[in-house]
Amino acid sequence: MSNFGLSQDKQELFQLAKEFSEREVWPKARYLDETSEFPTELLGKAHQLGLLNSFVPVEVGGLGLGTLDHCLLSEAFSMGSAGFSTAAIANELAGIPVVLSENREMWKKYLAPMVDGAIMASYCVTEPGAGSDVANIKTTAKKEKDGYVIQGSKMWITNAGHASWFFVLARTGEAGPKGLTGFIVPADAPGIQLGKKEKTMGQRCSDTRGVTFDNVFIPANHRLGDEGKGFKLAMGAFDKTRPAVASGAVGLAQRAFQCAVEYATQRSAFGKPIVENQGISFMLADMAKDIEASRILSWKAGSESDEGHPNVYFASIAKLMASEMVMKVTTDAVQVYGGYGYSQEYPVEMLMRDAKIFQIYEGTSQIQRMIIAREILKK
Ligand SMILES: Cc1cc2nc3c(=O)[nH]c(=O)nc-3n(C[C@H](O)[C@H](O)[C@H](O)COP(=O)(O)OP(=O)(O)OC[C@H]3O[C@@H](n4cnc5c(N)ncnc54)[C@H](O)[C@@H]3O)c2cc1C
Repeated sequence: MSNFGLSQDKQELFQLAKEFSEREVWPKARYLDETSEFPTELLGKAHQLGLLNSFVPVEVGGLGLGTLDHCLLSEAFSMGSAGFSTAAIANELAGIPVVLSENREMWKKYLAPMVDGAIMASYCVTEPGAGSDVANIKTTAKKEKDGYVIQGSKMWITNAGHASWFFVLARTGEAGPKGLTGFIVPADAPGIQLGKKEKTMGQRCSDTRGVTFDNVFIPANHRLGDEGKGFKLAMGAFDKTRPAVASGAVGLAQRAFQCAVEYATQRSAFGKPIVENQGISFMLADMAKDIEASRILSWKAGSESDEGHPNVYFASIAKLMASEMVMKVTTDAVQVYGGYGYSQEYPVEMLMRDAKIFQIYEGTSQIQRMIIAREILKK
């Protein structure tokens, strides 16, 4: 099979991650779904293999891997468990704004330790009253002597219960995006309260909860970039993480497709394997077509970023395409299984539940369409 120009290093990384996922993650996927247990042990094993926190810059001892590398990791992880993949990739979402800020002091203090241990971090942007409308968030950071005091509530924060630190977007100035600033807040700072772990439809091992900041003081050097530059940091991270989210959808869809092919060849009806009916084989053909197209798009979005081109357009196209695709593929996989697909005895119902969030987090499908339309009009 052509590797679409993937370098030898990238092919080896992909292979290593796929083998890890098949051997360690996939056999535990149902257990993680049933128990909602955070995959601490698996994250530790991924870290030992150099597959976790690989975004940390070389300058502070990390691997400094790029966006396409993270697409490969995300696809491989999601073939094992999309919830595990989300937990692993959420660290990158928290870390990229720190990298983009070029705050070397914070790189050393918070990113360097992520190389030595399976340290987790969270991206705290969404609030109870504002998700898509990020520019309208209400959390404030008031300047006080040699630091800032943060006040407000965040919602739907992935990894929050296990994070050592948070990237927090807060308002330091005027209304709208120009009044927002990014900060690193250590998770043990006095005044932080974690909400209960949310009970979710899918990806249940991923830890998502609210975080409240009640007069939380942080030193001034924890500010990332200048005041008013936080919106750019928070949104800039998506250019690098949306391609990987798209790849996560591809990995999950690939797993559902494999399950569907296997079942369709084994299950008989009317005296022949169900795959011999065009009604079924065409469904498999459409799955294959859509998965291949989404994979190429996510790699394109990742490569554009690595080559230093603006990739907002391709990141949103890949994220939209892959997240709509994974919902369709997993729903069709349940259909191929018939009644058994609806049962927890088989994996496809779990895969279908795991798929839905791809259309919601890191910008909903509607928001991706808004971004794509805006980019078209700009051109
Ligand atoms: C499991 C999970 C994990 C998450 N992890 C994180 C995380 O780690 N960090 C973080 O900060 N956030 C996280 N989120 C939040 C997620 O990014 C938001 O839920 C998402 O951006 C949507 O925001 P909302 O839920 O407030 O919906 P809303 O913004 O209220 O939107 C509701 C509906 O209206 C639509 N809509 C809104 N505005 C428009 C418009 N202008 N035109 C058309 N349609 C529109 C939306 O597409 C959606 O369908 C997570 C969410 C979940 C469920």
